[in-house]
Amino acid sequence: MRSKFTRRLRWVGGALALVGFVGLIALERRRPLRRRVEGPNRHDARNLAMAAIAGVSIALVQTPLVLPVTRFVERRRVGLLKLVQMPAALETLLAIALMDYTLYLWHYLTHTNAFLWRFHEAHHIDLDVSTTTGIRFHFGELLLSMPFRAAQVIVIGVSPRTFSIWQNLTTAQILFHHSNVRLPVGMERWLLMLIVTPRMHGIHHSKVRRETDSNWSTIFSVFDRLHGTLRLDVPQDELSIGVPAYEHADEVTLSRSLTLPFRRALHVWTKPGQPAPARKPSRIAATTLVP
Ligand SMILES: [Zn+2]
Repeated sequence: MRSKFTRRLRWVGGALALVGFVGLIALERRRPLRRRVEGPNRHDARNLAMAAIAGVSIALVQTPLVLPVTRFVERRRVGLLKLVQMPAALETLLAIALMDYTLYLWHYLTHTNAFLWRFHEAHHIDLDVSTTTGIRFHFGELLLSMPFRAAQVIVIGVSPRTFSIWQNLTTAQILFHHSNVRLPVGMERWLLMLIVTPRMHGIHHSKVRRETDSNWSTIFSVFDRLHGTLRLDVPQDELSIGVPAYEHADEVTLSRSLTLPFRRALHVWTKPGQPAPARKPSRIAATTLVP
């Protein structure tokens, strides 16, 4: 009964993600937030190709590895949330929040650990941030995240149903906060009280190191607030997107992106012979959203 519900949830989630994905692409072409560096068709086609390869690695590894772990957790009642009896809705809510918080920690690790960064960098060298950037991940990063994902499920105590709900919410949020859709600033200020928005995550893709080292959250913005890593004071039209060592479209092609982790590491936060990108400190508070 429960596995039938989980299967249906996965299908409904997949269908909604597809509708949302197409809708966001249509919207960002009509109401762009940042001016694009590359033509949208070439950029989106490359990102879709990377996503297809990553999708195969998820199907081959995540489904056979992580789903049985969620079933084991349910059967044997292991994990923090299984230690105390609580209403199912509360347990689901806490599990989603804890999965999202531990994903914040994983994201931080992918930037601070030199080996993991080699793979996550393939996501960050994109010269534009748009909906398809949200699915442009190196398959190696996804494979490396699987043991961490299994550990999250076991330590927190996440059942198959809750895992599917968290996965759907995470996918929806990743597509949304990477999108290049210009929302009214007032609306974004409201949304930011709860979730990560396109302006907030765009700043995480800045070429300025101090700005990339902020806004690590995925679903809920609260974790950046709690850690003091929230930064909203950078105007979107002043943002230069990417990693300074890779400035041109021919440096971020599909083959160069896929082979990036296995090539000689460049000093990524500066371009040889150039100073590191920087910005004068703004006079307003870092947590004040600017257009
Ligand atoms: Zn990142």
